[in-house]
Amino acid sequence: MNQLRLLHPEPVRKRLRIIPIFLPYHGCPHRCLYCAQHLQTGMANGVHTAAEGPALEAIHAKMVQNLGLQTTNGSKGLGIAFYGGTFTALPVEWQERFLKTVQPHRVAGTITHVRCSTRPDSIKANHLSWLRENGLNMVELGVQSFEPEILRQSRRGYEAETAVQACLTVRKSGLELGVQLMPGLPGSTISGWFRDVDQTLALTPEAVRIYPCLVLRDTPLSQAHRAGSYRPWSLSRTIWAVSQALNSLWRQGIPVIRIGLAPEGTLTPAIQAGPWHPALGYMAKSHALRAWLTLSMSALPEAPRLIFVPKRFAAEFWGHKREHVGVWRRLGLAPSNVRCWERPYFLVTSLADSLQK
Ligand code: SF4
Repeated sequence: MNQLRLLHPEPVRKRLRIIPIFLPYHGCPHRCLYCAQHLQTGMANGVHTAAEGPALEAIHAKMVQNLGLQTTNGSKGLGIAFYGGTFTALPVEWQERFLKTVQPHRVAGTITHVRCSTRPDSIKANHLSWLRENGLNMVELGVQSFEPEILRQSRRGYEAETAVQACLTVRKSGLELGVQLMPGLPGSTISGWFRDVDQTLALTPEAVRIYPCLVLRDTPLSQAHRAGSYRPWSLSRTIWAVSQALNSLWRQGIPVIRIGLAPEGTLTPAIQAGPWHPALGYMAKSHALRAWLTLSMSALPEAPRLIFVPKRFAAEFWGHKREHVGVWRRLGLAPSNVRCWERPYFLVTSLADSLQK
């Protein structure tokens, strides 16, 4: 076997345009060590609790306006997501009001998917059934970690078992499960991160988000950082750890739908330390692709001599600022031996002169 035909390892998924409805800190029992929803959701400084931010009434009014506009414009097949707080811990009448507001837009075909994010200790089986009956499709759990020591040091307020049981309860409810992980929290280690990934794999979620821990201004974590009691992960360690996780999750067909916080206008200037880069997701994916291709090519009897790369993955193949050029060259793939093409698969050969496509 002198040739390898390979499809990109990332699971193919239908990309959904999502309308985010931010509920900063609403329903949260306390403010978590690292959390700055007011910055992540583009709100003004000085908002640290739900009471200081926009009231549910105002958030709802904006949502009604936005949905009305989408329906008038003839938008179809959108998703809607309730983020930034603990949706399942809002007063039930508010959960009902938000979900009922979506209903006519679902009937019109504007909205086809509804999700919310919440905490693992705010999950109850009978309540999930009720949410499902009221139109919810997916619960994204802000698990962050399944490691007892990380949960303790990060003051999440629940045990590892609570996080596992919450995922299982969502699974059993028939709702889709999303798991949000946060590498680099206080108390984290690389081995603990891989245990988190293994536990996530065992729970077979429909989607995973990875938000490496950042030190944001005006959070308890920033005080710990200033006092020297917390050291964030470096960018290179994070990229490596996330890229390893990507290959494990992709192999099991689990899509990773977000890596790193979105660069909201108010977020970027508030980052004091931590593995921040606007292209973090792309960098982690390109490292994952490099590791996967290198491993796959080891099945060839000789060193690779020529590779055809699908055009849409060319940037990932070369990496950020072409950082992988040297690695490919050492493997036998100098830039002159790399060709881009329109086909959807990679083709690697160890016999350049007898290539049969
Ligand atoms: S539960 Fe989530 S949204 Fe609420 S404070 Fe903690 S991290 Fe932030």
